[in-house]
Amino acid sequence: MSQDGVFSDLVGQDDAVETLRRAAQAAARVVAGEQVGSGAMTHAWIFTGPPGAGRTLAARAFAAALECERAGAGCGECHGCHTVLGKTHADVRFVAPEGLSISVHEMRALVLRAATAPSGGRWQVVVIEDADRLTEAAGNALLKAIEEPPPRTVFLLCTPSTHPDDISVTIRSRCRVVALRQPPADAVAAALMERNGLTRETAVWAAAAAQGDIVRARLLAADPEARTRREAVLTVPKRLTGVGACFDVAAALVSAAKAEAAASVVESDAAERSALEQALGAGGTGRGAAGAMRGAAGQIKDLEKRQKSRATRAQRDALDRALVDLAGFYRDVLITALRAPVAVVHGDVAPQSEAAARKWTPESALRRLEAVLACRESINQNVKPEIAVEAMMLNLWKG
Ligand SMILES: [Zn+2]
Repeated sequence: MSQDGVFSDLVGQDDAVETLRRAAQAAARVVAGEQVGSGAMTHAWIFTGPPGAGRTLAARAFAAALECERAGAGCGECHGCHTVLGKTHADVRFVAPEGLSISVHEMRALVLRAATAPSGGRWQVVVIEDADRLTEAAGNALLKAIEEPPPRTVFLLCTPSTHPDDISVTIRSRCRVVALRQPPADAVAAALMERNGLTRETAVWAAAAAQGDIVRARLLAADPEARTRREAVLTVPKRLTGVGACFDVAAALVSAAKAEAAASVVESDAAERSALEQALGAGGTGRGAAGAMRGAAGQIKDLEKRQKSRATRAQRDALDRALVDLAGFYRDVLITALRAPVAVVHGDVAPQSEAAARKWTPESALRRLEAVLACRESINQNVKPEIAVEAMMLNLWKG
């Protein structure tokens, strides 16, 4: 691992890394029985930032530094660091909702386990990867634990922002916030060249097209299907030639997101179903078998419900990626029209965004950009994707 140890994956986040390093060192002094100033170490943290800024990477790196055997350095080489990064450390739990929300049952079980003494003698760490998907009841269960944290327990919450829609005001008030920023494209490109061995040309293109999201940039560089999906999305503006076309393009965009999502969950769905059926099939036919069958039907129904919820989430995530790409195009039109001295996102379709910039006023380009952002917001607030996307297409066409 490089000289930055566990924090080396956090590209362009120097301030956040400095804060986390200091806190981890203070935490190590607490473990050693030394006194630290109040506020040097905090039991509850919120990591915010746009997609791809590295919220969960930052939380995981910090968890590793807390368990690091070298005075909280986060060396990346000791057993503590390794097991946390590999998600196998006994005292570090990662919670990611399978469906659209994290239930109160999950949260209660987690809070109970987090209250036990850390087996490795350092910290019990709970990383909640999508804290914005806590149900209200789950949020309340978590709040109780954060209000009176066990002495050696640390909660790390990852969420897009500290807006009340994402995290409750009361939880927010008990946490220290680490705000990650969108890493600059040149920092992402440099990381892609250094760590993934990409050529300069590919790295610069992928970093810009992914708008600072390093995970997405890696995917775009490596996966031809991801590139094809992106290219299809970028043809949307020129396909909007009338009301009928708006509806057609909307339907195509939503069904592409559905197909992408279905492909992403098909394997895990089948594996889970066959594992469950196998477990249930071992039930036998003796006394009580009828009761067991009723139980089995319930378990299959539960599994189907969870899988449906996960599929819905995967669809929304896929659609959101498409909308981010589309927003990038209208942003390019706007900055071209305003002659802003910043790099375009989609350099490969620059002739198109330049043509649009000559045709539309900056106000009209801005309205289109806002239509895309409004669509993301509507879908976030549970508006049916078809409806939100149709409304967006009509606005994109009208300008
Ligand atoms: Zn270490």
